[in-house]
Amino acid sequence: MSLDADVIIVGGGPAGLTTALYLAACAPELVDRVLILERGTYPRDKPCAGGIGGRADRVLARIGVRVDVPSAHVRGVAVSVRGGRVIRREPSGLFVGRVVERAIFDSRLAEIALARGARIAQGVRVERVEPGADHVTVHTDHGQIRARFVVGADGVGSIVRRAVPSDVRALRAQVVEVDTQPVSTDVDRDILHFDASDASLDGYVWDFPAPRERDNVCRGAYVLKIPGRKSPDAASVLDQHLQRLGLDPSRYPQKRFAERAFSSRAPLTGPRLMLVGEAAGVDPVSGEGIAQAIGYGALAGPFLAERLRSRDAHLGGWSRRLTRSALGIDLHGRAQLTRFFFGPRRAFYEQALLRVPEALDIGLRYFGGLSPDAAQTARVAASGLRLEAGALVRRVGARAASRVSGIRFQDEEIGLARARE
Ligand SMILES: Cc1cc2nc3c(=O)[nH]c(=O)nc-3n(C[C@H](O)[C@H](O)[C@H](O)COP(=O)(O)OP(=O)(O)OC[C@H]3O[C@@H](n4cnc5c(N)ncnc54)[C@H](O)[C@@H]3O)c2cc1C
Repeated sequence: MSLDADVIIVGGGPAGLTTALYLAACAPELVDRVLILERGTYPRDKPCAGGIGGRADRVLARIGVRVDVPSAHVRGVAVSVRGGRVIRREPSGLFVGRVVERAIFDSRLAEIALARGARIAQGVRVERVEPGADHVTVHTDHGQIRARFVVGADGVGSIVRRAVPSDVRALRAQVVEVDTQPVSTDVDRDILHFDASDASLDGYVWDFPAPRERDNVCRGAYVLKIPGRKSPDAASVLDQHLQRLGLDPSRYPQKRFAERAFSSRAPLTGPRLMLVGEAAGVDPVSGEGIAQAIGYGALAGPFLAERLRSRDAHLGGWSRRLTRSALGIDLHGRAQLTRFFFGPRRAFYEQALLRVPEALDIGLRYFGGLSPDAAQTARVAASGLRLEAGALVRRVGARAASRVSGIRFQDEEIGLARARE
């Protein structure tokens, strides 16, 4: 049977485009057998604050891709928690990332993919995928297409994921954003600000410099929906944030979207199907997903090239490939961190950040894809251990004290009872 393509990639966002770019880089002879189906037409809108860690640009640079678009360059980060705010800049002065306009960034990435031989069908919406014994039928609003493999790079509401059997309900977040003028209390324009000072919220509000109108600020709210916990509506969280800054929320139309978290238990493959990017899941703690989407693509491209060359029909090794990669370890770690950041030890981590602000530098270097400073990492680890040990001693002490007072209390009760006799 003749197929329309070897690989159909559903979704032309960073994950789908990077998959095609990496496949083209390691198997140029196969790239014309790859077809991306994108429901939008570039430059299509995508609600996103557009903060991209420098490590994503480095992953693209490895195959000679440079996405040259207007960007607000980032040198540091500010994190507000109960009790204070920590602002850290990369001491070398290097940029650790940038803020882009997603419509323009994705459009430029698509142009690069086209120039490297990828085929992209725009304005084609996939409605259903139907895996068969030797091919997958992709049903679209323009008819049916058949391929050996289908990659689901279709983001948070992935259609492809519906054909991947799973009983895991991954965490979701509600995200809203607006663009406003700056206010006098804003941090400098080369700083990304995350405000997690409302401890009743499993999430945070942000203020990022917007890249286009020189002075605009993109502000938003990220609200993680943790099962069994009450969470406020992200729109009202953002309204309150704007009001605190002296801005009138009714003046700024909100863009609203969802995000889907990575879960180590959720399957990433089905028969002849595999998931990448947000269709597979991104960071639940911060909602960062662009660098992850690009990271998924950098792994998926070579993986698919191997499968196509060996004429192997199985994609089952994809989960293992991801799990063993730096990206997989990162995603797994962040999924675990959710329990700590938004759990009962939140106050401890807030205090730890205020007492060891250097810890933020490590995150900053990681975000930027800069190599870690070993001496600094050791210092932060030692301070962290001291704080952990102190907290442990206090917990054990408090538990012992409550036992002793319980015994005393019992003794006193016995004494009272005897006195009454
Ligand atoms: C408000 C908001 C702010 C955010 N801010 C940041 C940030 O600052 N930094 C960051 O790193 N991450 C941020 N994220 C997360 C980030 O936007 C996503 O994680 C990232 O875009 C995922 O990339 P992707 O390629 O997997 O999916 P997407 O970028 O969502 O791309 C999926 C593509 O598939 C197409 N598609 C979907 N369904 C179909 C279909 N049925 N048929 C054909 N095509 C289809 C879509 O049109 C789209 O082009 C934010 C998210 C939101 C909602």
